[in-house]
Amino acid sequence: MTEPTHDEAHGGALGERLNWLRAAVLGANDGIVSTAGLVVGVAGATDDRSALLTAGLAGLLAGSMSMAAGEYVSVSTQRDSEKAALALEKRELRERPEAELEELAGLLERRGLSREVASEAAVQLTERDALRAHARVELGIDPDRLTNPWHAAWASFLAFTAGALLPLLAMVLPPAHWRLAVTVASVLAALALTGWSSARLGAAAPPRAVLRNVAGGALAMGVTYAAGTLLGAAGV
Ligand SMILES: [Zn+2]
Repeated sequence: MTEPTHDEAHGGALGERLNWLRAAVLGANDGIVSTAGLVVGVAGATDDRSALLTAGLAGLLAGSMSMAAGEYVSVSTQRDSEKAALALEKRELRERPEAELEELAGLLERRGLSREVASEAAVQLTERDALRAHARVELGIDPDRLTNPWHAAWASFLAFTAGALLPLLAMVLPPAHWRLAVTVASVLAALALTGWSSARLGAAAPPRAVLRNVAGGALAMGVTYAAGTLLGAAGV
């Protein structure tokens, strides 16, 4: 599988879908690790199911809203700069069309077309839709498919929540003496799955990605459990 790029005209839709999928897997992974660390830490300090439920639920909501807000801000910023670049391009096309035609021909030539074919293609693309041609070839933007910040925010919220539900339910549903084992086992299994998926989507080597992801989660749970146990023993 190859890295999706923005300016592949026919691969654009697939690349976009892969980007969304990868973002969803990463969001779910975040939800799993941070909520698992939280509930395992609290479980180190107390057996109280309602304390575990409260901590896990608060972590789920705080994390998913923070992810959504961060995504909203970052996609909005990206969209603003894409819109600004398109507006500038529009003005340039209006004010100096010959220079823009020459620029487009030069860009197409640099992509491997001969001088004559590049000039002809630039003329035809400009006649059909000059702004779209410049947006795609020069800026690598599809003006019809700018990412909606609300969609991106909502998607991260859902992905994080889906991930966070796993450690939360694994901690509060089983009987008290099973909850830690069930949580650790299901979290590590889920991290193996998300590590494998994100490696496949990003064209990385799955075994190493799985190992890193599982080790990271194990470390997070180990550290918070140790901290929770110390605090619980100290009676804080
Ligand atoms: Zn241009």
